[in-house]
Amino acid sequence: MRTLIKFDWSRVSAATEEFARSLYWKVRKPTIVILMGPPGSGKGTTALRLAPLLKTSPLSTGDLFRKEIADRTPLGLRLESYINSGKLVPDALVIAVIRENLLRRKYWNGVVLDGFPRTLLQAKLLDKLLQNLGLSVDRVVLLAPAEDVIISRLSARLTCSNTTCGRTYHLQSKPPQVADICDACKSPLMRRKDDVPAVIADRLSTYRRESDPICEHYASKLSVIKPTAVETEEEVLAKVTAAL
Ligand code: AMP
Repeated sequence: MRTLIKFDWSRVSAATEEFARSLYWKVRKPTIVILMGPPGSGKGTTALRLAPLLKTSPLSTGDLFRKEIADRTPLGLRLESYINSGKLVPDALVIAVIRENLLRRKYWNGVVLDGFPRTLLQAKLLDKLLQNLGLSVDRVVLLAPAEDVIISRLSARLTCSNTTCGRTYHLQSKPPQVADICDACKSPLMRRKDDVPAVIADRLSTYRRESDPICEHYASKLSVIKPTAVETEEEVLAKVTAAL
């Protein structure tokens, strides 16, 4: 009978783990993809599907932050007012969270970044962080649906309350099988506090202000995809994989 030996990382010191990571990255460079787009552009759904195709893991800063808030951690308490009002979390705080997460074993094969970087400074800090690790961003994909598509999606969006699931639904175009219950994990669905008209407007204007300089910064690695209101998630994913 084949015996599977599972390595017990809990017995390994931080220094040994770091050494193992650097060896691993010498043999297999991680793939780093940035998925950009305004709120409601389908980044989250696309990242969840794209990451396994690239043998990487999705990393959404919004999801990480919402989990901190749900768990009532000290970081979550600091984040809450920014997120509920649709304001950007300060760059230094975001980059610290990204750094801590990128080094986790879960991301050793690479990452599809969703919702990060969101400012030019974050992009530059990410480049520096990756450079120090001997890595760089491979590709950047911008999902850019028309504004009416975005507003329709956000104002009818339902999100799974289980922060480790985080799947999203749309009241008309992608309703759950059972009303208000997540198909995948059976947790109750909820409206995000920042998916209300006044906050949506604020989030979109912040996005418009901050996104162009990031696109210019990554111009040589950028592909732009314009999902339409009638395109399915599969069709958008196919366009993204073709672009990569
Ligand atoms: P999202 O789920 O990507 O729409 O993010 C939800 C909220 O989390 C945003 O409106 C911001 O308040 C905060 N947030 C997420 N990612 C970032 C980031 N990279 N920089 C600053 N704030 C962020």
